Amino acid sequence: MTTPDGNGIIMAAQRGKADLPCPALPCSVCRRAQIGPPRASPEATRPTPKSGKGPSKRQAHVTWLIPLSLSPRIHPPSSKQQQPSAMAAAAFLSARAAPALLSPLRSRRLYRRLVASSSSAGGQGGGGGVEFQGKVGFLGLGIMGAPMASNLISAGCDVTVWNRTKSKCDPLLSLGAKYEPSPAQVASSCDVTFAMLADPQSAAEVACGSSGAAEGLAPGKGYVDVSTVDGATSKLIAERITSTGASFLEAPVSGSKKPAEDGLLIFLTAGDESLYKRVAPLLDVMGKSRFYLGDVGNGAAMKIVVNMVMGSMMVSFSEGLLLSEKVGLDPNTLVEVISQGAISAPMFSLKGPSMVKAAYPTAFPLKHQQKDMRLALALAESVSQSIPTVAAANELYKAAKSLGLSDHDFSAVIEALK
Ligand code: NAP
Repeated sequence: MTTPDGNGIIMAAQRGKADLPCPALPCSVCRRAQIGPPRASPEATRPTPKSGKGPSKRQAHVTWLIPLSLSPRIHPPSSKQQQPSAMAAAAFLSARAAPALLSPLRSRRLYRRLVASSSSAGGQGGGGGVEFQGKVGFLGLGIMGAPMASNLISAGCDVTVWNRTKSKCDPLLSLGAKYEPSPAQVASSCDVTFAMLADPQSAAEVACGSSGAAEGLAPGKGYVDVSTVDGATSKLIAERITSTGASFLEAPVSGSKKPAEDGLLIFLTAGDESLYKRVAPLLDVMGKSRFYLGDVGNGAAMKIVVNMVMGSMMVSFSEGLLLSEKVGLDPNTLVEVISQGAISAPMFSLKGPSMVKAAYPTAFPLKHQQKDMRLALALAESVSQSIPTVAAANELYKAAKSLGLSDHDFSAVIEALK
């Protein structure tokens, strides 16, 4: 499915995450923009700036949400004049969520929840539609699942968790989560259940296997799979889930451990559109933007393409670091030079310094990156698209796995070149 302007994105909502509450909220112009249909404007295809040149985070938030007809008017907050919604937010925070004042990050999340609840129906814009009132289940508390569930709890959601290794539930239980002993029991006790599993096999098992989520689902409930899987697996899961009368949304995420902790993930969703709208406030707690891409399989495909690009970039970067060192250059200087030019990427600046020290603290396990390269090769094969760079990079990830580096960060792929 494509939009009228043919970019293939049916809905996209972007949220710049300023350190302060959205300045646009009290503004009648911006409020209209928040609840209106999103536009695939040139603004909307520009990455959210975080630092350096370009609009500030605060400006970016407003720019993302204002329809073309209303841009480029920016409505900055007035520090002197407290607007009604800002006062409502302050009252909300002090009266209902005093503990959140302990942490600016938690306060911001609660404010975002208020923003979501203050937007009127529709939910396609950055406001996220009506507040989510139901109970939320979360299956899979690994590197990504744990902070995502934690953010939902911090935002005030009623969260029930399950993880294959039960001990990983303990930190969430101490934050206030409930526990159920199987995916089926979580799904049966919740209105919407999220799943963040390792790979296609575990995602299918947890959704469709014995005591799997499907056994607890029924009409009116929703299942949102945020794991990275292939389209065929996602369709299989969708079929089983919808056979119970429940709705299904695939919503793999772009972003790693830190964005998961900071609630700055990017959701690539597809499937049931009404479920997408229903869970939008929850996605907005966990992420900075969300795309609705149409039929089941499109979210999975988008995620796989993004990750195959990332995997190839990491291999090329690794080769550059090693070559620079071999010819007598300081690889740290290479990292700095790259960071200032057109090929700069947060990933290089983030991982480069530790790679130079041969340290690979795990944010994205190498085994999962290799899984995504494998899924990309299968996807390309299905449409006879040649992706030789990915094929070559995949061999290096396989070599790194055979060196025992599966559970290290994927940047450890550099070891396979040494
Ligand atoms: P992880 O830390 O390895 O966690 C994997 C989760 O899956 C754990 O909860 C694990 O349970 C569970 N699991 C594995 N096999 C299972 C099975 N057979 N039955 C039931 N549960 C099973 O992985 P992660 O980094 O959180 O990634 C999760 C997903 O997100 C993957 O699809 C990954 O590709 C994707 N992703 C990761 C990142 C990242 O940067 N880490 C970024 C974007 C997307 P146990 O605790 O019992 O092992």
